Amino acid sequence: MRTLRFDIVSIFPGMFESPFGDSIIQRAREEGLLDLRVHDLREFSLNKHKKVDDSPFGGGVGMVMNVEPFARAIAEVKKEVPETRTLLLSPGGRPFDQEKAWELSRLPSLTLICGRYEGIDERVRQHFVDEEISIGDYVLTGGEIPAMVLVEAVSRLLPGVLGDPDSIVEESFAGNLLEYPQYTRPQDYQGMKVPEVLVSGDHKKIRAWQKAEALKKTERVRPDLLKKNRRS
Ligand code: SAM
Repeated sequence: MRTLRFDIVSIFPGMFESPFGDSIIQRAREEGLLDLRVHDLREFSLNKHKKVDDSPFGGGVGMVMNVEPFARAIAEVKKEVPETRTLLLSPGGRPFDQEKAWELSRLPSLTLICGRYEGIDERVRQHFVDEEISIGDYVLTGGEIPAMVLVEAVSRLLPGVLGDPDSIVEESFAGNLLEYPQYTRPQDYQGMKVPEVLVSGDHKKIRAWQKAEALKKTERVRPDLLKKNRRS
């Protein structure tokens, strides 16, 4: 059995309690597949008021998070897991996708750095971080929710975390396609019927229909994914 360790550095450690204390993530923790640790950034501040931010050099609105508390927090984690990959959650990072989730799921340890306010002193990214990751082209108030997104997307790929491992093989983004439409009972809901082929019992036909529908949906909603396929 393999364990993936996450160390998360944040000024709001309490935000992680519920998402990490329920459902699949909690079960994976209990089974020893996941080791999740959340560190309060303020504990690494040398300031007597535990301050972790200051006004930006060059002027401008808002506050910027100091380099020192992050540098100290990351050094502390590295004492225990020197091989950890340190990821900075930031709208300026490379877009996170399923391929990246697979790549990260193969590593033994990830350290996630969560910003707040106007962001983090650039020296953190330059000197203490291996990779800068964005969860999408929009701006959130903090890196906590992006960190949760990343933990969830990566954890469910670990062997043993999901009840049925086949569900990962079939879902959206596998082979750069979106998933085909799914239906369940009732077969007829107020005249809205399930496609006939799905109740035909002909598995070859069903598979062909699913493939065609996945392709149609991807063409309509995410043609960029199909271009990725052509390149690879
Ligand atoms: N001033 C920064 C900028 O324009 O890039 C935005 C800072 S944002 C208000 C505060 C923090 O939220 C960031 O340091 C980052 O950790 C997190 N954050 C916001 N949007 C994000 C996104 N799309 N992906 C990952 N992290 C994000």
